[in-house]
Amino acid sequence: MISSLLIANRGEIAVRVMRTARRMGIRTIAVYSEADAGAMHVAEADEAVCVGPPSPTESYLNMEAVLGAARDSGAEAIHPGYGFLSENAAFAEACQEAGIIFVGPSAASIRAMGDKAAAKAAMEGAGVPLVPGYHGDDQTPKVLAGEAKKIGFPVLIKASAGGGGRGMRIVRDAVEFTDALASAKREAKGAFGDDRVIIEKYLERPRHIEVQMFGDTQGNVVHLFERDCSLQRRYQKVIEEAPAPGMSDARRAEIGAAAIAAAKSIDYVGAGTVEFIVDAAAGGADGPFYFMEMNTRLQVEHPVTELITGTDLVEWQLRVASGERLPLNQERITQTGHAVEARLYAEDPSRDFLPAAGRLVHLQWPAGDGIRIDTGVRNGDSIAVEYDPLIAKMIAHGPDRETALHRLHAAMCELQLVGPITNQAFLADALAHPAFIEGEIDTNFIAEHRSALLPTEASMSNANILAALAFLLEERGHSQVLRGGDAHSPWNITDSWRPNLPARDRVELQYGDTDISVDLMNDGRGWQANLSNGDSSLPVGQLPEGVAVYRDGHTLILTDGPRQQRLTHIVPLEQADRGEGAGGGLSAPMPGKVVQALVAAGDSVIRGQTVMILEAMKMEHAISAPADGVVADVFFNAGDQVDEGVELLRLAKDSE
Ligand code: ADP
Ligand code: ADP
Ligand code: MG
Repeated sequence: MISSLLIANRGEIAVRVMRTARRMGIRTIAVYSEADAGAMHVAEADEAVCVGPPSPTESYLNMEAVLGAARDSGAEAIHPGYGFLSENAAFAEACQEAGIIFVGPSAASIRAMGDKAAAKAAMEGAGVPLVPGYHGDDQTPKVLAGEAKKIGFPVLIKASAGGGGRGMRIVRDAVEFTDALASAKREAKGAFGDDRVIIEKYLERPRHIEVQMFGDTQGNVVHLFERDCSLQRRYQKVIEEAPAPGMSDARRAEIGAAAIAAAKSIDYVGAGTVEFIVDAAAGGADGPFYFMEMNTRLQVEHPVTELITGTDLVEWQLRVASGERLPLNQERITQTGHAVEARLYAEDPSRDFLPAAGRLVHLQWPAGDGIRIDTGVRNGDSIAVEYDPLIAKMIAHGPDRETALHRLHAAMCELQLVGPITNQAFLADALAHPAFIEGEIDTNFIAEHRSALLPTEASMSNANILAALAFLLEERGHSQVLRGGDAHSPWNITDSWRPNLPARDRVELQYGDTDISVDLMNDGRGWQANLSNGDSSLPVGQLPEGVAVYRDGHTLILTDGPRQQRLTHIVPLEQADRGEGAGGGLSAPMPGKVVQALVAAGDSVIRGQTVMILEAMKMEHAISAPADGVVADVFFNAGDQVDEGVELLRLAKDSE
């Protein structure tokens, strides 16, 4: 057995791999970027080596730096986790050349499956069913358009080198094809340095069902059943479960056998996942299934498989990498009960799941029967903009599906997380949705049930405003109102509160686009608030039961369970700034890189027109014009790095 392991990753997966390694008595070595010096995975490791600046290409993706860290620390093996270098054949080779064990398949297996076009060609040969489509070498737009027509619309364009749902475009008819192709190719080029695409028939009611594989160096290959990952947004998994609801044992055996054939055809060693797309319109989970791709690594959602099979897949990986036989043969792999995982992300479901970042101001994980939390952050840590916005995977196991869903829902409601905007409430609602509970799922679920799952813009109640005011008073140490006021509050703004004078002042708050100004007065018996919305003389008392208020900079976050409302506390000095930005300026919603400026000074634009494309947190974001007008100035070009809030371009009002 290997005795030391470097984990070439960060976040929850680094922490999770270390947990098993430690249990097996293996020395663990973390690598980290300068942004992660204080991260949980660094604290948990026996040793840690800095591999470079925050940018992933300079740190976690920097092969030389990672290999150098392995050499310097005397690591016998490297576990790549998922993402980053995990599916990089050149890295697997470089490890071998350096005499370090790569915990994963051979470079040849990675290559065989790393490219969607090559993988489909190989699977065709192995007799694994494929989605009708084109995966040829000829990439001339005309040829691709012709192939799309032959396949029949709608089609799906996919980046051949793609992953993580990037570079995919649905095309519903021939006229859209050229534009969609160009944009898919541009995204693929930027994300993977390779703009080749494949085209597939787009299935309208698909389920994503994948099979967990394992191979060893003795030539044994087994499967550990399937996972259903049909709940997705933007082609990325959000909720995963095992077994697949509604799948018959006969079909389970068939899809397992197809996955084994796929893995055997490339002499697969280690953990891998064969992803299938199932045409659920014709038979639910038992509908026709087609090979989609194989991920030659440990998958994000591997815990659901671990929970139903009672295995530790990281332990299996480390044993196989050490040359041992698979711990169990196919007959001895059994499943018990049902498991479900939800990916808790820092993202805003109501803004099309726009990734968010920020500090975890308050964090308390739930506990309970059958609950497992895999995370890489602790209270006070930050979700950084440079990396994936995954905060944690919350997983529940139970004797049956209903119990597992119920347990995860309860845990989701119990989770106390304050800080960046998250999908917590969205996940809680999805887990309790009657259609989901009934198992009526396909990959359109989230889009179709959007209105039920997205938080309706709740108006700010007076009760919540009063809670915010109580918090502000308490923060200022006005303990005549609230006991337990914090005298060491971070309050450092010059204001007109003076002890021993008639206490009155004005507080400016903002909720969404609504300004709320409050006149506060202390009549000697307590504080009264006059609200600009007309309600007068409301008493400001203690914080209402069940509501908590937290401050993150100038944002006051009110929370009652999984739901949060945010009030901006406007400080007079900053108001000037705020007014200025509102002119005709468009600012970056988050730090990122400009992919393309689609307009130039002097261009006329219409409301909603995309004027710039920004890449941030591994995704492209379209910046659109808020109103008709003329572009006065464009401040950034393709390739420029921008900070959050920075003005990207300026519009002049339409000159009539
Ligand atoms: P899984 O298939 O294991 O559920 P995802 O497809 O969501 O995982 O991808 C796992 C992680 O790896 C995500 O953070 C995703 O952004 C990243 N990822 C996937 N494929 C690639 C790739 N080819 N290059 C870089 N990152 C990738
Ligand atoms: P990635 O490498 O980004 O994971 P996949 O090929 O695995 O790409 O596809 C990701 C997701 O896109 C699938 O889980 C599925 O929801 C959707 N998808 C892929 N192929 C098709 C298809 N032919 N028809 C409909 N949806 C598809
Ligand atoms: Mg996939």
